[in-house]
Amino acid sequence: MTSTFELDATWEANHYLNGTERERIEKTISMIPEGVFNLLDVGTGNAAFLAVVEEKLSLDHIEGLEYSEAGIRNNLSKAPVNRGSADAIPHKAYTFDIVTCLEVLEHLPQPVYSKALQELQRVSGKYLLVSVPYQENRVNVTCPKCNCKFNPNTHVRSFYKKDMQALFTDFELTYLESFGNKREMYFGKYRNVAKQVFMGKKFPKQAVCPLCQYTLASNEMKKSVTMKSGSNKLSLIKRLFFYNAPRWYIALYKRKGI
Ligand SMILES: [Zn+2]
Repeated sequence: MTSTFELDATWEANHYLNGTERERIEKTISMIPEGVFNLLDVGTGNAAFLAVVEEKLSLDHIEGLEYSEAGIRNNLSKAPVNRGSADAIPHKAYTFDIVTCLEVLEHLPQPVYSKALQELQRVSGKYLLVSVPYQENRVNVTCPKCNCKFNPNTHVRSFYKKDMQALFTDFELTYLESFGNKREMYFGKYRNVAKQVFMGKKFPKQAVCPLCQYTLASNEMKKSVTMKSGSNKLSLIKRLFFYNAPRWYIALYKRKGI
């Protein structure tokens, strides 16, 4: 079965190493504390984060763990990336000074999610660094082929401040920052309905229908990107109904009692 994460297009280097993703990565790196010598990035994708860590810091050892073969195939760093899942990390307890898990937790279904939180705590001796989308109002798209409605980013959960505070049992939150910029919609409790009307019909280029596996062909991908950038009517609507909100939470946790 194909998923977004098994498409090479999902891991395109330029998307990660420039623009807003680059800003997120650099901000995340700036939150790595002194006294950290080795690092594991869980759910590293194409290891863009590790590539920038290599550029900015000189740690003794860094490595990644990634489930998707396409992510591993597109490794942008020099660091080794093992194949594995966040709920079964192939390392002994306390192996790393810091374990990072960036833009991963929002994708995990409940059994994997609970186990992953335990696993992150198990393999880190000192710190956990986590980023997730900020208070996301998730919007579904409709598959043009089979009418299935699904979240095109495969996000299954959203995070609020209380979630960030209560994420771990053995680690305490030492620093929480909301960072970046996204457009958020007014309309209070009707926001998701309104977002569905304005945004729900656009089928993103990296989306794969979980039911029938429909995805845009590569020539349609180019079309959908062009349409997005040239839409003036939409930008007027955006000015009227949208406001700027942070895009991510980035949180640093420290093991209790050290
Ligand atoms: Zn479908």
